[in-house]
Amino acid sequence: MDQITAETTAPVRALPSLVGLTRTGLADALRAIEVPEREIRMRAGQLWHWIYFQGARDFSQMLNIAKGMRVRLADHFSLARPEIMAEQVSKDGTRKWLMRMPPTSASDKGAEIECVYIPESDRGTLCVSSQVGCTLTCTFCHTGTQKLVRNLTTQEIVSQVVVARDRLGDFPGGVVPGDGIVPHGEGVRAVSNIVFMGMGEPLYNFDNVRDALGVLSDGEGLSLSKRRITVSTAGVVPQIAPLGEESGSMLAISLHATNDDLRNALVPLNKKYPIAELMEACRTYPGVSNARRITFEYVMLKGVNDTPAEARALVRLLKGIPAKINLIPFNPWPGTKFECSDWETIERFSDIVFDAGYASPVRTPRGRDILAACGQLKSETEKLRARARMVE
Ligand code: SAH
Repeated sequence: MDQITAETTAPVRALPSLVGLTRTGLADALRAIEVPEREIRMRAGQLWHWIYFQGARDFSQMLNIAKGMRVRLADHFSLARPEIMAEQVSKDGTRKWLMRMPPTSASDKGAEIECVYIPESDRGTLCVSSQVGCTLTCTFCHTGTQKLVRNLTTQEIVSQVVVARDRLGDFPGGVVPGDGIVPHGEGVRAVSNIVFMGMGEPLYNFDNVRDALGVLSDGEGLSLSKRRITVSTAGVVPQIAPLGEESGSMLAISLHATNDDLRNALVPLNKKYPIAELMEACRTYPGVSNARRITFEYVMLKGVNDTPAEARALVRLLKGIPAKINLIPFNPWPGTKFECSDWETIERFSDIVFDAGYASPVRTPRGRDILAACGQLKSETEKLRARARMVE
């Protein structure tokens, strides 16, 4: 009896997944199963094509790999992806997924993170997470109130994109699953843009984010253009130049205030890296030009940072930096003391910014009906679970 119990409760040790690995990661995995050194490059290249170009879900699909090798791969590895635990679809087509990552160790239950898909007429943007939770405690952001924090691995970052493409039928031969997902035409991709604006501070997880950017932009695989991948930071100044040098991705700065006193209160990281240092890092961002502008995000908080004087200060601050401005209507969450600025106030602010030469700066609120702001799906799901436990 004891033995049976032990057997049934023993953790199922799932095979490690190859999905989300870098080329080096794939090569190491092949070495671990004693694939001869002279074959490693070729085999890693084949796997790369099947995993990232074709979106293969089974080793048996990989017909240019000899059967014996396919069986060996399947004995040791899987092509498992994170699981979609919850999906919410907004009236405007925005989709928010709560994903559970496969456990990384016996003590790890599998991190849960959020990922949001925003379809537009000319593009589809996927908003990915870089950490579970966040250490920054920006006062208007809900993620800062969640305690569990760890970096996501490169594999976990990349696999968010793979899952989204699966779900949207965005791999060759992929089946558009219905459920309101509009089939996209030949050669048009459901996921064309990636923004690191989900949970976490990407520049606090620099190495894994940089390696993930390498996988996402690899022309023989997922092939996302680096100009369509944007990393958003609250301003981790020492990592800004390395991001440009090592990844070549686009940069977004969560600015939200034009003076240090207010920014210290909204984005406490500002106490460490004040506005002047942040602006200098932007001015010298590798590759910045009028064709490759830095996006400045500015969340509109009623009575806090939304006066015409602040709009003018914003314009002055950005002088000389190739910039785009994104005004973000604040997305309220239960318990927050902040409110979103009134529409007229946002318009007045936006007019000043527009007159200074910055085009279409207000980000239309998307997915409001599904609480698509940072950190909210996870907390809603946790609340529902807590409620379910109370009923039990
Ligand atoms: N840590 C990174 C990326 C994650 S946050 C950063 O700070 O840039 C992505 C963007 O969403 C940031 O600009 C952040 O300030 C903004 N944001 C967070 N909570 C918000 C809310 N409730 N409403 C509107 N924007 C929010």
